[in-house]
Order: sequence, then structure tokens, then C-alpha cells
Amino acid sequence: MTAAPLRLRLDSDALISNWRTLAAMSGTAACGAAVKADGYGLGAREVVRRLAGAGCRDFFVATWSEALVLADLGVAISVLHGLRGEDLPAAISAATTRPVLSTVQQARRWREAGGGACDVMVDTGMNRLGISPEDVATGLLDGLRVETLLSHLASADEDVPLNRLQRDAFAALAGKSGARRMSLANSAGIALGRDYAFDLTRPGIALYGAVPVAAFEGRIRQVVTPEVQILQRRCVPAGQSVGYNATWTAATDTEVAVVNLGYADGYLRCFSGKGRARAGGVEMPVIGRVSMDLTAIDVSAAPDLAEGDWVSIDYALPAVAALTGLSQYELLTSLGARYDRMWY
Ligand SMILES: *Cc1c(COP(=O)(O)O)cnc(C)c1O
Repeated sequence: MTAAPLRLRLDSDALISNWRTLAAMSGTAACGAAVKADGYGLGAREVVRRLAGAGCRDFFVATWSEALVLADLGVAISVLHGLRGEDLPAAISAATTRPVLSTVQQARRWREAGGGACDVMVDTGMNRLGISPEDVATGLLDGLRVETLLSHLASADEDVPLNRLQRDAFAALAGKSGARRMSLANSAGIALGRDYAFDLTRPGIALYGAVPVAAFEGRIRQVVTPEVQILQRRCVPAGQSVGYNATWTAATDTEVAVVNLGYADGYLRCFSGKGRARAGGVEMPVIGRVSMDLTAIDVSAAPDLAEGDWVSIDYALPAVAALTGLSQYELLTSLGARYDRMWY
């Protein structure tokens, strides 16, 4: 197979360093890793292999098909979206994967099927997935082997009273569910302090270089940099336009490179006229409209860049989120399947 004309440069040291930082901030709690959505777009298998090597013992995916992709790695995986009827055969036969039961029906289904260890999600105010604290109090979990009781914070990235309310509602369940461990904090939740860490934290986005709260500034390193190949270099004469709908017109004769990157690769149209590429320390602006598979950049400042050369795309998540209005989560998870994913 030939190499793709676009790739993600993935920094193993930064990924591991971010996990260690989050683990240290988790205090005495263990630190897991959310690797749903294919490791937030980086590639779940490679993320799991690296973090398991660094000492991470708990991994979280959304669905059973995501868990199956990781099954041979021998790590403990929790499936956040629980246990539909059609998931039962896979769940019963899985060696190291547990469902995160999140409805009354799922808890009954798992008990009736004679399932082994499971996790349980309890809703403490987000009203997304989870059984209610009352369900726990009235014995729904009796007879189940609950490894971890989870809840999820709705606004961990903001300083709002809901955080404390959710934490207290969760803490009130200590000793009542039969669970061996309790887990509440995502990335931003870790920054809320030790009160929120319980026995196990579950960061996702900050592992991959995002800075959801100021407490992570200067401590979390960038992991992902897209690199793309120049397919054509041309001089656009003054007065001519570039790209769909001719949204950019050359004021003077301009050197333009067309690179193999577009909105089908997650480089959405909000980067039009705003994104930046870089080569050899020279910064080059995106010009005109981003197409499905192609983007034009002004390479006037880089006279040596030629057809076939690679340029990197500015992708520092906090800055690029501010620039485009996309969330740091969207910026990672929309990176498509066409990139070669290269770990260094
Ligand atoms: C996605 C997710 C996480 C990780 O959240 P981040 O904000 O990416 O750190 C943790 N717990 C649950 C239940 C999740 O769905």
C-alpha cells in the first residue's frame, strides 16, 4: 500500500506525559483513560498499548464494537453505553470487558444472564445515562458484582454549583452500592480537586492534548499534528481568485500551494481564510475556501517549498478551538480515516 498524502504525527512521549500529569493530579486515585471514538481520533489500539505500558489499568469505550477492537490487548475495558439485548453474547463471553449498566432494564438483564463483574453508571444530575440514586437505595444492584460505580459531571469545565451538588450526591452513595470503587472525574473534573477523584479518574480529552480548564495550561502537551503533502504549486496572478466561489482574490501575484486536506478529513470549512500551515519555521495562511479534499495556502514566504513536500497544519487545540469556534473534542474526533497515523 502506498503512503497517504496526509498523516497525523502523534507524539508518544506527550501522550504518556499527559497521562502521568493527570495521574499525579488524581492523587491517591487510580487514573484510567477514555479511548472511545477510536481514542478520540488518534487510534484506540495504539493509545491503549502506550498507556498500558505506562501503567494505566482502566480503559473506557462507548460501544461493544469499540471494545472488540481492543479485546486481544488484554486490558480491562468498560463499555460506557451499557448492555443492549443484542450485546449480551459479546458481553457474556468477554474476558476483560465489563458493561457499564445504566438502566434498570440493563441491571436486570445482566443479573438474569448470570453476568460476572460489571460497572454501574448512576445519574447525579446530568440526566444523560444512568440509574437513579433511588434505584441504588432500593436494591436494584443486589446480587450484582459491581466493580466500579460511576457518575459523570455535566459542567466540570465551569465553576458552577452543580459540580458540588453532583459530587455530594455521588459521595452519599459510598458503601451503599456494593461497588469496590467509585469514579466521577473526567479530565476537567480532575482539576476540581481531590474531593472529586474518589478511587478512579477517567480522563479523555486532556490525554490527547486538550486544555479544557486553565489548571492544565503549561502542563498538558500537544499530541496530534496533521501533516499534509503539497499536490501542486502555482503562481496566481494579481486579480485572479482561488477555490470554490472565488472567496479569495490575489492582490498581487501570489505563490499558492494546494495541499491534500479538506473538510472530509475534519479540516472543516471554518478554517477557510483562518487556518495556518507551517514549514521550516515559516507560517503560511490558508486562503480561500476549504474544499472536501483540498486546501490552498499562501506559500509566498517559502520559496523552496515544492510539489511533494510536506507542511504541518497548526493544531494546538486550545488556540485552534478559539480560532474556529469548534470544540477541542470536535477538532480531535473529526480527524478522519484518510490520515496515516504515525507514532513517534
Ligand atoms: C467521554 C467520557 C469521559 C472522558 O471525558 P473527557 O472530558 O474527555 O475527559 C469520562 N467519563 C464518561 C462517562 C465519558 O463519557
